[in-house]
Amino acid sequence: MKPRIYCDYNATSPLRQTAKDAMLAAMEVDGNPSSIHAPGRATRRIIEDARQTIRDGLGLPNHIIVFTSGATEALATLLHGGIVNARSKKPVSRLLICAADHVAALEAHSFDDVIKIGVDEHGIVDLGQLRTELSDAGKADETIVCVHGANNETGVCQPLTDIETVVEEAGALLVSDLVQWVGRRALGAANPDAIVLSAHKVGGPAGIGALLYNPARLSIERGLIRGGGQEKGARAGTENRIGIAGFAAALNEAIETMPRDMLRLGALRDAFEAKLFVMRPDVEVFGASAPRLPNTSCFAIPGTKAATALMQLDLDGIAVSSGAACSSGKVKASHVLAAMGVAADLAEGALRISFGFDTDEEDVAALIASISKWC
Ligand code: PLP
Repeated sequence: MKPRIYCDYNATSPLRQTAKDAMLAAMEVDGNPSSIHAPGRATRRIIEDARQTIRDGLGLPNHIIVFTSGATEALATLLHGGIVNARSKKPVSRLLICAADHVAALEAHSFDDVIKIGVDEHGIVDLGQLRTELSDAGKADETIVCVHGANNETGVCQPLTDIETVVEEAGALLVSDLVQWVGRRALGAANPDAIVLSAHKVGGPAGIGALLYNPARLSIERGLIRGGGQEKGARAGTENRIGIAGFAAALNEAIETMPRDMLRLGALRDAFEAKLFVMRPDVEVFGASAPRLPNTSCFAIPGTKAATALMQLDLDGIAVSSGAACSSGKVKASHVLAAMGVAADLAEGALRISFGFDTDEEDVAALIASISKWC
């Protein structure tokens, strides 16, 4: 029996051994990457190798990578008002943002001209509204559209290539928060103008992430953090070589093991939901009819409160989340479920389980056994 069972990978993943190894190796190198002497060049090599590993892993050879302290900072770097649309040469001053995006995007921007794009009851963005908003104001080439790839609460995946087509046809820009998508789904043909990533969601360390952008589509005229000109002026401050090395190693392993891991985790998740349904046929699984991440299940059992359920699971040594993990600790209503039109009393009972590389059948059995005590 495992001493504790961790089913909260969408909040943060345990550190992968490969990431630990890469970080330990990076600790052996001491130079400042901006210095031209040998130790400086050795540190620079670690950072540039990591950049290449990330580009190769994602299959985005032309995107510029700006390392940041995480996805929140990456979003703020892009959305604080310092970017220009490379095709129209116009500064970007308008934001269309999906109502179910992470608060890191909803709260990170500094735009005054903002319109929220709704989602349907399955959590899928309203493409019709997006099209209308892009054409109505006549300012598409000054607009950036922000739609996440996979939702951290429900696992619902957005039709990225369809969104791209709508945005591209209008001449606007698209940024997608792929924090939960990458390492769990292939990018396929998707190629947003900018994406944001976070290392701790793929088994890397917390406190490091990246903004990737296509320089043919946009330029960053003014960074959020200005100073020494690192990261081509987009993010000043001496680079975190240890975090960067751990990030690249974790992402690489997550992408390499993804086909096998996601098949396995999808089967575990489906088995979990099937057992839940047998226990409580009235269980509501949010986003169940939409394409979802295979590792995620967000559900509510009518009449239960998430806070109580969380505590009972915790007593049995099982870690899960209610609502968004970033706001866990204080259990508050989920803006994602509200945007999907879920009734407030049902949403109050919403629990999220999210599996990862260490999850096995024993964990699912323990989850079901614990839930059966109170459901
Ligand atoms: N976007 C999504 C979808 C997330 O799940 C999170 C973290 O919970 C973030 C952004 C913020 O990432 P970070 O912790 O790297 O700032």
